[in-house]
Amino acid sequence: MKNSKKLFKRAVKHIPGGVNSPVRSFKSVGGSPVYIESGKGSKIYDVDGKEYIDFCGSWGPLALGHAHPDVVNAVCSASRNGLSFGTCNPLEVEMAELFCKMVPCADMVRMVNSGTEAVMTALRLARAFTGKTHILKFDGCYHGHTDCLLSSAGSGLLTNSIPSSAGVTQKVISEVITTPYNRPAAVKNIFRKDGNKIAAVIVEPVAGNMGLVMPEKGFLETLRELCSEYETCLIFDEVITGFRFHAGSYATLARINPDISVFGKIIGGGMPIGAIAAGRKVMEMLAPLGNVYQAGTLSGNPVALAAGIATLKTLRKLNPYHKMAELAENFAMKINSFAQERGLGVHCAVYGGVFTLFFSSKKSLKNLEDVKTCNTALFAEYFKFMLQRGFYISPSQFELNFVSAAHTMDEINAAAEASVEFLSIRT
Ligand SMILES: *Cc1c(COP(=O)(O)O)cnc(C)c1O
Repeated sequence: MKNSKKLFKRAVKHIPGGVNSPVRSFKSVGGSPVYIESGKGSKIYDVDGKEYIDFCGSWGPLALGHAHPDVVNAVCSASRNGLSFGTCNPLEVEMAELFCKMVPCADMVRMVNSGTEAVMTALRLARAFTGKTHILKFDGCYHGHTDCLLSSAGSGLLTNSIPSSAGVTQKVISEVITTPYNRPAAVKNIFRKDGNKIAAVIVEPVAGNMGLVMPEKGFLETLRELCSEYETCLIFDEVITGFRFHAGSYATLARINPDISVFGKIIGGGMPIGAIAAGRKVMEMLAPLGNVYQAGTLSGNPVALAAGIATLKTLRKLNPYHKMAELAENFAMKINSFAQERGLGVHCAVYGGVFTLFFSSKKSLKNLEDVKTCNTALFAEYFKFMLQRGFYISPSQFELNFVSAAHTMDEINAAAEASVEFLSIRT
């Protein structure tokens, strides 16, 4: 930790909190962050030479693991040709064709530089398309840091949102309705009252930003029905779920057709990226065809696209999804059977290669209110224990852990053993 600590001491002088994104600061788990110097496959290495099995995977983009040779080669060869032109480039065409083939609900796609940016444009499109103003979002879902979605459910009235960040005005939030995940009846009530005002419902079709919370049967279907009935755009935020569970969108797996989808993370293979995808009628509203303005100096950047194209093609070729799911399920099964045997208040939620170990006695966590029952102090201890043992799990209770194509059963077993050891000492 010596070199990491030195770096962090320097960092805090000129970077707010020492970090360029808050959750990296270890604020919720305590201690000072580790500085990572390199990564290969499932492993990362810090500036003090310590090796970790990585389950954070850059928060989702690295489905192939770190520095996959196909991706690195594509990036190197694209870089040698120049980093950016601000003109049309051939990789844009290749990516758009590949993407639309792999994501059936997309007739067209536009590339941007982050998930946040993609969400901003999706909302603008939905408002223009419907001519309506309001956005319905779910408590505990995260859609990037655009002003209006930094809101949470206000206490008391279900439909009363409050800003969850300073600097976000009540005025902006007043057009956002927030309601719990997995409560279709509540959504129905909101639509009955305000459906004619709602331009879009935005949802993580598998929630990852409150820890792993699966959509219950009928939840997403209800959203689809209501959106169709009230002529509201259903937006699937697939920034995490896209290409995470198969070589395509979660919408395909769920057999639901969203009106607009946003992507990010995996489609850039570790480079900054985002994308808005939809049917032709919606997408043709974007400038220069239509009157919905959206632009970006570095959008469709050839180096980012080279990484993205190589990642998608390699995922399609390797099809590692079954293996990733098997590894994550094995981890969860070991934790859950130990917890059950000892009657411990922990539960590992798992789905297709992602998992969250919830320190809660609730067996099934369905929304933010349930997730808030977790013992975050105990999670912090678990995090530190794992870090010390050489396992880098996501440094927050309310996040996903990611298994990549590069992880092995031995690594999963070692992580499960360490976790069980922690649980037997501390619970
Ligand atoms: C990460 C994430 C975003 C934001 O993407 P950035 O590239 O960080 O701006 C949006 N939605 C979801 C579901 C995410 O997990």
